[in-house]
Amino acid sequence: NQCESAKSEEIFKELKKTVTDLNLGQEIQVVKTGCFGLCTQGPIVKILPDETFYVGVDTGDVKAIIHEHIIGGQTIERLKFKGKAPGKDPRHYQKQIRIALRNCGVINPEDITEYIGRDGYAALGKAIFEMKPADVIEELRKSGLRGRGGAGFPTWLKWKFTHDVKDQSDEVYIVCNADEGDPGAYMDRSILEGDPQSVLEAMTLAGYACGSSKGYIYIRAEYPLAIERLYTAMSQAREYGLLGDNILGSGFNFDIEIRLGAGAFVCGEETALLASIEGERGMPRPRPPFPAVKGLWGKPTVINNVETYANIAQIILRGGDWFSQIGTEKSKGTKVFALTGKINNSGLVEVPMGTTLREIIYDIGGGIPKGKAFKAVQTGGPSGGVITADHLDTPIDYENLVALGSMMGSGGMIVMDEDDCIVDVTKFYLDFSVEESCGKCAPCRIGGRKMYNILNKITRGNGTMEDIQHLKALAVPMQKASLCGLGQAAPNPILSTLRYFEDEYLAHIQDKR
Ligand code: SF4
Repeated sequence: NQCESAKSEEIFKELKKTVTDLNLGQEIQVVKTGCFGLCTQGPIVKILPDETFYVGVDTGDVKAIIHEHIIGGQTIERLKFKGKAPGKDPRHYQKQIRIALRNCGVINPEDITEYIGRDGYAALGKAIFEMKPADVIEELRKSGLRGRGGAGFPTWLKWKFTHDVKDQSDEVYIVCNADEGDPGAYMDRSILEGDPQSVLEAMTLAGYACGSSKGYIYIRAEYPLAIERLYTAMSQAREYGLLGDNILGSGFNFDIEIRLGAGAFVCGEETALLASIEGERGMPRPRPPFPAVKGLWGKPTVINNVETYANIAQIILRGGDWFSQIGTEKSKGTKVFALTGKINNSGLVEVPMGTTLREIIYDIGGGIPKGKAFKAVQTGGPSGGVITADHLDTPIDYENLVALGSMMGSGGMIVMDEDDCIVDVTKFYLDFSVEESCGKCAPCRIGGRKMYNILNKITRGNGTMEDIQHLKALAVPMQKASLCGLGQAAPNPILSTLRYFEDEYLAHIQDKR
């Protein structure tokens, strides 16, 4: 698989070169795939058809893979994953259900025929030739799919709002929010790198359902491989008549453009994102009106994030009822989490909603390194909060996380062990939000800075008991009065850690440390 952080590109080139030098090009294909999810074990080389899974591969291992395994038929024991690898430890993959990630690590994302070979574009064909636009939205309603970008708004309802006003506008837009910016979250990047056609197909389905001929993907410029693969995917989709004019000969036209973001976290907020696409400074706008009825250039606009789109073709193909059988009563389907921090198997996991944190951290994640004690996990990134050991058995869904004082967010999960200082971690998140504040409204611009200064004072051993009261007094108005989600959620890590770990704040104050 191609993981740039693990230098897979060098291994890929070495494999290609060795195969060419040995004149084996007719018998052996070397192809790139997307992410397998096992980040700590990369780079990974998978040998087909026998499905051997080699981990931690180095360029020096390439000759052995070709000579010993492919030519000699011998498995290389030292490269086989000894721990919780697919097929080796049932707990690791058996608890996962892959819908959004179904093609990641399986297909070559630079070859549309491999996507088509896995039912790709079958949903689009089904929708265009067998379903009315309203039927597509009805299937989404049945599925219960909610936005995977954080807020969990029902996807079908966004589409219906736009569908219902489409005749009052000369244009309707479909937007993909690929401005993933939470620290520790990289599920959208991995989907775009591993399965870009699934997002293009879903946006085209949205275009069909909502009467649009134009889509935009807003993606941060820091994701160069995802951008490159999107361009390749779009060009191949046009070549195959699946994007552009007269899609599948049906007379339906829909095309997509890419817009690059410059890395401002606030541009992940949908109204700021739209402003940025329009060429304006990326600052949030008051809502209502909501983008579904008055969005890009004042026209009805559907916005969903990458992971949300990655579920949609499968829902249309297999039916909303199939999807709604997975998950909990109010949170259907699966969720991709980026598991990082103090965890043995860091990486991407996709689990049914309702899976407990204990299953994710211990069964899938392999527990805490060096036998240390689990302390807490931060979900929802800088907008979320901590979940403690007392709540490890809570089934994860949108409502339960909010009840615990955190949120789903885009799916970052940062695990902390007994050595981590909760107040330091909280300061890190608040620092992030303060740095990323656009400054448009005072509660966020001033309140965030004031709270950061207090936290700084506490962590330097200069805090007082009144500081705790000041933090609480600043947090609630900031949540209530800030214009957008960034400012509204920025105090969450403080309130959450004060709720569960106030003793650590007090220890800093009383021990002057
Ligand atoms: Fe900008 Fe913060 Fe106000 Fe949002 S809450 S508009 S990020 S200042």
